[in-house]
Amino acid sequence: MCSLLRVNHAATTHPAHPHGHQPHTTATTSGDGAMDREQILHLYDWHPGICFRHPGKGAIPTTVIGVIHPRGEGQRDIRACTDCVIDLENATRERLARADEPYRPGQLGEATG
Ligand SMILES: [Zn+2]
Repeated sequence: MCSLLRVNHAATTHPAHPHGHQPHTTATTSGDGAMDREQILHLYDWHPGICFRHPGKGAIPTTVIGVIHPRGEGQRDIRACTDCVIDLENATRERLARADEPYRPGQLGEATG
């Protein structure tokens, strides 16, 4: 009797933390996945357009990642689809990591400097 009561009481003292459960994963800037795809895509404005790498896809959600100035044509936006933006962000991150410079996503369309 007495021992049963003590077992029950001991079992209720730590009810909320089952062994091995870790609610907080440390998502710091180490290795891959510093920001996930969705987070990066949210940094851009998306409008239907033609991706510079995937013209065959037709009008898809794109964002402006740069401007070119063809001779005699004024200027033209360079648009990239979600896949290409992630690609370019990854490339930028790797390039900056090699140069030991901080990486800030969401700046593909920004002028340098
Ligand atoms: Zn694309």
